[in-house]
Amino acid sequence: MRTGSNLPAVGEYNQTLVLDLIRRSPEGLSRVELTARTGLSAQTLSNVTRRLADEGLIAEAGKVISGPGKPRTLLKLEPSSRFAVGVHLDPVVDTAVVVDMAGEVVAHDEIDRVQGASAAQLVAGVGEAVDAIVKRAGIPRARVLGVGVAAPGPFDARGGRLLNPPLLPQWHHVNVREDLGAVTGLPVIVEKDVTAAMVGEMWFDRSDVLADAMFLYYGAGVGLGVAISGSPVRGRTGNAGGIAHIVVDARGPRCECGSRGCLGVSIEPRALLAEAGYDAVSGSDSRPDLDRLVADAHAGREPAGTVLRRAGERIARALVVANNLLDVDEVVLGGPVWERLAGVLSETVARRVSTDPASTSTRAIVVRHSRVGPDVAAVGAACLMLDGAFAARPARMMIAI
Ligand SMILES: [Zn+2]
Repeated sequence: MRTGSNLPAVGEYNQTLVLDLIRRSPEGLSRVELTARTGLSAQTLSNVTRRLADEGLIAEAGKVISGPGKPRTLLKLEPSSRFAVGVHLDPVVDTAVVVDMAGEVVAHDEIDRVQGASAAQLVAGVGEAVDAIVKRAGIPRARVLGVGVAAPGPFDARGGRLLNPPLLPQWHHVNVREDLGAVTGLPVIVEKDVTAAMVGEMWFDRSDVLADAMFLYYGAGVGLGVAISGSPVRGRTGNAGGIAHIVVDARGPRCECGSRGCLGVSIEPRALLAEAGYDAVSGSDSRPDLDRLVADAHAGREPAGTVLRRAGERIARALVVANNLLDVDEVVLGGPVWERLAGVLSETVARRVSTDPASTSTRAIVVRHSRVGPDVAAVGAACLMLDGAFAARPARMMIAI
């Protein structure tokens, strides 16, 4: 359990700790409970809750009678006291969300993309989308903490600059943090999409038990978000989580790295559609074809079922290899392609993870679907902005570089 400190220098830490506890208790917490949970003195706690109330972040919400003595006043989060915008730059579709202090999505937009636009035009387009969604959500701009941007790697975490993400050629070497910050006038955080997804999932885990976990993010590309002891694992440069070259099928398709059957090439949407013998009819957007693949599998039309079953086995092998390395409790699956295919893949992945002979796990690996859904990377990026401002985890408080 995290406890507070009664030293004056750590007042801000106490404030974030108390706020985080209140956030995770939607039914509210009394000052007596908060004192017990934080180890803070009654006087310190009273000062902290008064400051939080003064800032509009919490409010008194009724009284409860528990045992003898006077009724206790419950303190609850004021979800609409602050907001953050999350943006996901994705090879298929860019999205923007607004989340409130409780992490709930209050607005969602797809961002129009202009073909052949310059870097400056792309950044300006995202800036306009941020303005539009904040306006549409009816939020005073002063309550917007900033913009979290999730993007595929590799990126330069220190500089907030995308390097050369293969699936986003138009964004190569764009300094998103600086340029979007200049356009919007808001603080901007840039995070690898898989790490943002892991953060989003943890934010929605109110019980705070999702501490050692991994998030397999399956979009146009595939990657792994990792959390150890409740903190996202970023690595030295913010690019941790590359699992595309784990070999998952000795007879799988050739990869540009020289191997055969690497996870990335083995489950990429185009590869699955090719294995199923489909002519790509929808150009670069594979979503309609993936839906057709799922429908065919549901209808028992081969080879769709076989192709998806094999994809599930390939994903399971990658999860088992990663789990052998990390030894975590829980695996979360999500991302836009996963969301489309989950109805067919879920069962295969869960079964295969528990029976794969490569597994060295001494206990059953919990495999489950993302609670956040298709917007998880954008939501996670927004939560990072909330996190950077308020969460009482020293490791997370260092995020704002
Ligand atoms: Zn490879």
